[in-house]
Amino acid sequence: MQESSQLKVYKFGGASVKDAAAIRNLGRIVQEYGAGAPLLIVVSAMGKTTNALEELFQLAYSGQDFTAPLARLREFHAGVAAELGVADEAAPADSAAPLLATLFEQLGDRMATLLPGDYDRQYDQIVSFGELLATCIVARALHAQWLDCRSLIRTDHTWREGRVDWPTTERHLLAALPDLLARGPVVTQGFVGGTSSGQTTTLGREGSDYTAAIFAYCLQAESVTIWKDVAGLLNADPKFFRDTVRYPEISYQETIEMAYYGASVIHPKTIKPLAVRRIPLLVKSFLDPSAEGTRIHDCRHGLLAPAFIRKDGQCLVSFESKDLTFISEENLEVIFGALAQVRLKIHLMQNSAISFSVCTDFSAYRLEKLLALLRDQFTIHYNTGLELYTIKNYDAASIQRLTEGRELLLEQRTRQTFQVVCRGQV
Ligand code: ASP
Ligand code: MG
Repeated sequence: MQESSQLKVYKFGGASVKDAAAIRNLGRIVQEYGAGAPLLIVVSAMGKTTNALEELFQLAYSGQDFTAPLARLREFHAGVAAELGVADEAAPADSAAPLLATLFEQLGDRMATLLPGDYDRQYDQIVSFGELLATCIVARALHAQWLDCRSLIRTDHTWREGRVDWPTTERHLLAALPDLLARGPVVTQGFVGGTSSGQTTTLGREGSDYTAAIFAYCLQAESVTIWKDVAGLLNADPKFFRDTVRYPEISYQETIEMAYYGASVIHPKTIKPLAVRRIPLLVKSFLDPSAEGTRIHDCRHGLLAPAFIRKDGQCLVSFESKDLTFISEENLEVIFGALAQVRLKIHLMQNSAISFSVCTDFSAYRLEKLLALLRDQFTIHYNTGLELYTIKNYDAASIQRLTEGRELLLEQRTRQTFQVVCRGQV
């Protein structure tokens, strides 16, 4: 394998670029910790912009008026650029204004020309703008180069979850990036890619971490740092659990499993490319950048503190064979096939004699499609508004702590992992 390139990849998520003050803080971090080596900066959409774009898309797709929220989004970005002093139309070389104007023009055009059907493809063409807008401002604010990565990160046509064509992407990045990086820091978008036919894809919500890993893998980076609003990789989300602890270091494998169960700190696809090339992943706080954070790398450790992982917005769907036959491999094949077809991922499953249950993310649209496919063959019941909790490396005390006072609908445990689906708490 080639020598590492000394390249550092930094990833800044939505919270770290949520307003002008946050972007100034990002600038200080880059200056203080990112100087002296080639630096690639991957940036997400500002704050809750992706959610705002999803809502805009929904309005436009259903034929409703979207002009006011679109104007708000435009004013917001223009306001941040102005506050950072990068909105001067008279000095276009240092200004984000011309590119912002072009991007908003493209976005407006696309919103106005949505067609019925083809939902997921059109979603990608709209929702991808958040990262383009954010990077345009951040690049100017840092006096760094702006890179549109959609022609470099090649994916297939799986809309909203583009699957990366690694050989093509690697070829593209190796051809384009070394020269750019030699000139100075490069700012590019998380979350987006492009198909061979030049259409934009997205990599799945919260996919910017994955983008950082794609760049790091292809360019053999020395490390990836994800700058977050938490102190590192914690054993639970402090928004929902008290007394969290930070893991100072943790193996790739443990982290992959936590991300798989829904730990929101890192996108699940991020770890594998880094593990393959043994690139350490550092999770650090942009609020306290000198603090140690967490190092995810090839390491061995003893028993870890139990990790509590929460997924909300869950739905428990149960299938019963109509003729009271047992749930068989043939039945399961039909159920799995339909779930794959409507792209509902199973987070947990359990079967009994005549019924089979799965816990998935709730999506009214996908659930409706699933019912249409399976309703003739099965009696289907479902509950929504549920939460799925996983405790990795559980013990009796952690189960007690989690389940006390909750209404449990389904429970499962293996040697290391305890999972429970329960009603959401209000
Ligand atoms: N902006 C995208 C999202 O909010 C991607 C990301 O944040 O990583 O899902
Ligand atoms: Mg985000």
